Parts: sequence; structure tokens; C-alpha cells
Amino acid sequence: MYDYHVHSNYSDGDFLPSMLRAAEAAGLAGVGIADHCVVVPDEKIRRFRDAYGFTLDQTYPRRRRAIENLRDRYEIEVYDAAEMDYEPSAETEIREFLDEAEFDYTVGSVHALDGTNVHYEEHFAEMSAADRRDAVERYFEKVVALAESELFEVAAHLDLVERNTALRGLATEEQYERVARAFADSRTVPEINAGRVLDDYGEFHPTPGLLSALRAEGVEFVLGTDAHAPDEVVARADALREFVRSEGISPVELDL
Ligand SMILES: [Zn+2]
Ligand SMILES: [Zn+2]
Repeated sequence: MYDYHVHSNYSDGDFLPSMLRAAEAAGLAGVGIADHCVVVPDEKIRRFRDAYGFTLDQTYPRRRRAIENLRDRYEIEVYDAAEMDYEPSAETEIREFLDEAEFDYTVGSVHALDGTNVHYEEHFAEMSAADRRDAVERYFEKVVALAESELFEVAAHLDLVERNTALRGLATEEQYERVARAFADSRTVPEINAGRVLDDYGEFHPTPGLLSALRAEGVEFVLGTDAHAPDEVVARADALREFVRSEGISPVELDL
């Protein structure tokens, strides 16, 4: 099993050597260190990035040297990756940065609406029902644009809005079908993301409705624990193995 979505202390995860040791202990064949990386010029998104200390756009050369030095120490393939915040208006900045940074692969993520992180419960809870439905519609429009941009090898947590109780359950079949068609036509492979499956939320991304729509279009998947701590790598890798086995899904490996 390859886990293409693990964080380290180069963003909001635990120490890089601890995460690699955990990935090895989880019996993985390979792990991709995909730390948060934000080059979107939006002022609100940059304030969030700076507040949370996401500096990979500046520190990736240092992390790359660290990965190179640590590779031999663990019996596992280690990839030098990034989880890039995606905004349709920032495709030029993202493309220029990725051309320069030359990661092994990148994961694209839609994390924000109007500059606000979609995890932010209160912000969306204060909206009217119509505005919340509109927020979900605009979220999936961005996910479609991410697929069409062809910028990334992997797309993370396609229905992140489901984690927010104010936005949960508002997605429509029509939105799912649009997302599924976009990924069927894209080189970008969505992940099955275990980020909250063992926590309060209790589901994988994509949730069953979107997963079915994607599978009906013949879309394939990679796996991502989205782990930020060593014990999460092990527990979520087991959960992912069990899930794909029970669903009859054969995850794909990236050609790296
Ligand atoms: Zn993410
Ligand atoms: Zn992540």
C-alpha cells in the first residue's frame, strides 16, 4: 500500500523522522510527505497560512535535503510531495511555483471558500440555508476546476465540505456527477482520504454518494491517510486497507 498524503512538521504534522518511522511500521511500501503549501495570492488565505505557520513554499529545499538524508534509514519509498491549496484564480502562480519546485508529485486541495477555510463551523452556521447550499455549489465548482486545471497528480478529500456540520448533506447528485465527469477526463487521480474516518466525522472522503458517482465514470483512486501524527498513519492505513477490500477497490500507484 502507498500512502500519498502524510504531513510532517514542515507544515502541521509531527516530526518528519517520526512520521517515516510510523509509515514503515504501518507496513507501507511507500509514503508521500505532502505538507501544506500555499502560494495563492489571496490576502485572507495568506493570513491563514501565516497564522498556521505553513512555510513549505520557502522551506521545501530544506525538507528535500532532509528527505534525501532520511531515505536510507527506513525500509520504505519516501516521496517529496506537497498538498497545494488550489484556487481557480491562482493557477498561474501555482503552475510557476510547481515548475520551479519540482516535487515528486503534488496533491491539490480546495480548502477555502471566499478565503475562509471550510472547516470553520461558525462562519457557515451563521449563513442562511440558501447561502449554505450556494457555498456547497461553489465548493464543487472549484473541485471541477481543479480537475480541469491538470495541475496535480492527486486531488485530496473531494468533499471536504462534509466535515463541516453546517454544510454536511447539502451536496446534490448533479454536483457529484459533474465532479465525476471532470475526474474521468483528467489526469488527476482523486484519493480515498481517511483524514476523519476514526474521529467525530466517521466517513472517508469521498462519501458513498460521490464515491459511487466516480466509480460509475470509471475513475480510479489513490490512498491517503492525511495523517498528522504517527499513530494516525498506522490506524488509518489499516482502516483504508479494510475499506478498499470491502468495497472491491484496487487503488492505483502513481508512476513516479
Ligand atoms: Zn487538506
Ligand atoms: Zn492534508
